[in-house]
Amino acid sequence: MIIKTDKTTFENYLKDASNYYGDCEKLILVENKDEIIDIFKQANIENTKITIQGSRTGLTGSAISDNGILISTELLNHCNIDINNKTVWVGPGLKYFELNDILKEQKLFFPPNPTETTSSIGGNIATNASGSRTFKYGATRDWVMELKIILASGEDLHIKRGEYIVKNNRIKFSDYNIHFDDVFMPEIKHAAGYYLKNGMDLIDLFIGSEGTLGFIYDAKLRLLDIANELIGLIVFFRDKTELFDFLEETRDLSIKNFELDGEISARLIEYFDENSLKILRNHYPQLPDSIHSAIWIEQEVESNIDNYLEKWFELIEKNCSLANHTWTALTDNEHIEFAKFRHKLPEEVYENLANKNIQKIGTDTAVESKYFKDYYDFLYKELDSLKLDYIVFGHIGNSHLHANVFYQNENELRKAKEFYKKLIKYTVGLQGTVSAEHGIGKIKKEYLELMYGSKLNEMKKIKKSFDKNIILGYGNLFDI
Ligand SMILES: Cc1cc2nc3c(=O)[nH]c(=O)nc-3n(C[C@H](O)[C@H](O)[C@H](O)COP(=O)(O)OP(=O)(O)OC[C@H]3O[C@@H](n4cnc5c(N)ncnc54)[C@H](O)[C@@H]3O)c2cc1C
Repeated sequence: MIIKTDKTTFENYLKDASNYYGDCEKLILVENKDEIIDIFKQANIENTKITIQGSRTGLTGSAISDNGILISTELLNHCNIDINNKTVWVGPGLKYFELNDILKEQKLFFPPNPTETTSSIGGNIATNASGSRTFKYGATRDWVMELKIILASGEDLHIKRGEYIVKNNRIKFSDYNIHFDDVFMPEIKHAAGYYLKNGMDLIDLFIGSEGTLGFIYDAKLRLLDIANELIGLIVFFRDKTELFDFLEETRDLSIKNFELDGEISARLIEYFDENSLKILRNHYPQLPDSIHSAIWIEQEVESNIDNYLEKWFELIEKNCSLANHTWTALTDNEHIEFAKFRHKLPEEVYENLANKNIQKIGTDTAVESKYFKDYYDFLYKELDSLKLDYIVFGHIGNSHLHANVFYQNENELRKAKEFYKKLIKYTVGLQGTVSAEHGIGKIKKEYLELMYGSKLNEMKKIKKSFDKNIILGYGNLFDI
């Protein structure tokens, strides 16, 4: 292992993508599980806080310590593929793009795809990360088969999906025997707090636990074959009616046809609002004029691509007056261009923030699709009333949008925060989630409290049972 104590040599490890700044006594880059066990056992004796860190692309401060020991996973980056069974064992420090580059050579892929491809697989599991393809393939949780974890106590746990099922609201394995009361778990994309419900698989408790229960040092993931061909479409809308007509029909058809050959079914449905497109227009002057919004879709195809294209254009022409402006991607290069178009948005936002002394708050709420129209109207009514600059984009297929509100002074920050809190309360009222993918970490704890109220004690009970001295991921999820 490598131990660093001179902070000037690792300043960049003390900040994540949310700009949460921290501190620590030392940074340790571990190389095997025995080192982790030793560190954890010693920390329990000395009551030292430990924070686990992946690639620091997190947006909640969860990988940043306020004190104690910071452990980086970056040297644990092995990757062993079992091509016949379409599975892979990976070290937590392997980055998402590194895994997919290796898999691509075998015509395989790992379906969940967080936009930030430099994130680590350990971080993806610990935050139950999602991406645009979550519309079809679910979140990281759905693709994790086995985990090897060093629990906060220093105990080494190898857990396989299907091995421990929670019965009678009781988590029972090894020396653990923890009863919990029912906690509401939204049946949508959800990454806020522990996954906790009767009948669940125990492995799911650790997925999304934000470095608070144990150190994931090895993971077995399920993979899929890459499809022969891919259709990409960017569709433009004149107004909200066109947008919703197209969205609802596309979503319903896609879900109905997920398993059907020969029928249209999107693997992703992503949204860009008017303000997002205004930013993108600086780089893409070919965007049509006077557009309300756009949707990017992708469909995987095994054969007879013309049949799918015909059906897609029938649907687009039926719903969109700008149908003849639709952008199409069929070749690898064209798909890369579409991905660049999508990535240009956060890139531009971050560049603007850096150059113009502007800051932002970013929302991550989601609701069930039956409530989405109301949620959408509420979101825009509140945003427009702020009189601040904003953009809205994201995973509209999952009824999950990110609003970025920009502020330049204390007064604007206060207004932006008030808006966020109102949105959280409205979302919770619709039985939605306060975080669909980014998690809670250190900066969104008050929102988890708004979602769960006194039921948060059930999650705290789990934490205390696994981590009696509260050494791990201190300050994440809730105060205890
Ligand atoms: C531009 C941008 C776009 C993004 N888009 C998405 C998106 O589309 N979807 C999405 O879900 N997220 C997105 N994110 C957020 C972020 O990329 C994800 O949360 C990602 O999963 C974090 O991975 P990481 O390796 O950077 O983890 P870190 O930020 O280093 O850590 C995150 C959490 O995981 C824990 N952790 C890390 N490794 C382990 C381990 N081995 N064992 C136990 N705990 C561990 C840490 O303690 C911490 O609590 C985006 C971020 C940025 C900056």
